[in-house]
Amino acid sequence: MNYKISRRAASLSPSLTLVIDSKAKAMKAEGLDVVGFGAGEPDFDTPQHIKDAAIKALNEGFTKYTPSSGIPELRQAIADKFKKDNGLTYKPSQIIVSNGGKHSCYNVILATCEEGDEVIIPSPYWLSYPEMVKLAGATPVILTTTDQTEFKVTPEQLRAAITPRTRLFILNSPSNPTGSVYTPDEIKALGDICVEKGVLIMSDEIYEHLLYDGAVHKSVASFSQAHYDHTIVVHGFAKAWSMTGWRLGFLAAPEPIAKAIDAIQSHSTSNPTSFAQKGAVAALTGPQDHLKGWLVEYAKRRTYAHQKLNSIPGISCVNSKGAFYLFPNISKIGLKSADFCARLLEVEKVAAVPGIAFGADDYLRISYATSLANIEKGLNRLENFVRNLKA
Ligand SMILES: *Cc1c(COP(=O)(O)O)cnc(C)c1O
Repeated sequence: MNYKISRRAASLSPSLTLVIDSKAKAMKAEGLDVVGFGAGEPDFDTPQHIKDAAIKALNEGFTKYTPSSGIPELRQAIADKFKKDNGLTYKPSQIIVSNGGKHSCYNVILATCEEGDEVIIPSPYWLSYPEMVKLAGATPVILTTTDQTEFKVTPEQLRAAITPRTRLFILNSPSNPTGSVYTPDEIKALGDICVEKGVLIMSDEIYEHLLYDGAVHKSVASFSQAHYDHTIVVHGFAKAWSMTGWRLGFLAAPEPIAKAIDAIQSHSTSNPTSFAQKGAVAALTGPQDHLKGWLVEYAKRRTYAHQKLNSIPGISCVNSKGAFYLFPNISKIGLKSADFCARLLEVEKVAAVPGIAFGADDYLRISYATSLANIEKGLNRLENFVRNLKA
């Protein structure tokens, strides 16, 4: 059969992370001792009280369709979270709960972008953004940043990239893959330009609670009514509550955009899983103590990994201020990032994600969402690998 694949689907790039990941998994299955730095998810378990709430909901028969944008109780709890954490006032009708933060991003892009529109995406970027933009028929416009500016776009860069076709600017702070965090002043400067030019902002704030060294997070929506009116905030339960497999994300948007997204979701996925939503209510309204312990652990790993990476000849690494990633520069080594990672896995059984997957071929992404013992073992192997390349 000669299957016709739609232009939209055919335009997508297959996920490079999955190539390394499936190879690493196959090696593990063969019994090889592989150290994985590829994880894009916390290594901690979902807190028990969240699980209990979902189990209780299941046992009580809360297993049917819910309103497609989420149960009122959860949308209210999310509105309360925005008020408490970000000083942002949203009505529950402005909140949409989706099947993961990724789904929330996709809904925002589908609801706001179409053929002829341009979407500005700073690189290194979360690898799904450009593909989602292509799925919507719009054009990704990539703004390259480097470790010289801690992977942050400057206001000048943003201003120069805006054209009459620019529809959306995607901001992700703290960032996956770099761990970089914009200061409130830097966020405001970018927001000001979008307001001035009438460009919407999709602000992916899923790592808002994972901060180090006194870094602070401020939502771009919170600077003024005009900033609020131009912003859609995307968030989710995956990272700060370690609920990646639950598939629950959410967004807060100006009313007309929320309405459009509600329509899209009602005809595509319908509601996110009913009993998972009950768990999410417990996540937001229950104790948040788990996070303190996780942050202490992440911070220790980050400090160790940052120092160790910088001690390896040919590698340099700016310290991240958020999320659970470091993004070391390997340009002095003289291998393309995909080649570097393929050989590192082959020779030393260490899985890292090549920077090219995030639009940045001079780097690797190292996730420290794994134990300190694993990090020590893996980075010692990485050091061996680099030393042997030079020998
Ligand atoms: C993890 C992540 C998300 C959301 O992931 P889901 O599992 O779909 O909730 C969104 N944006 C970024 C940048 C992420 O790293």
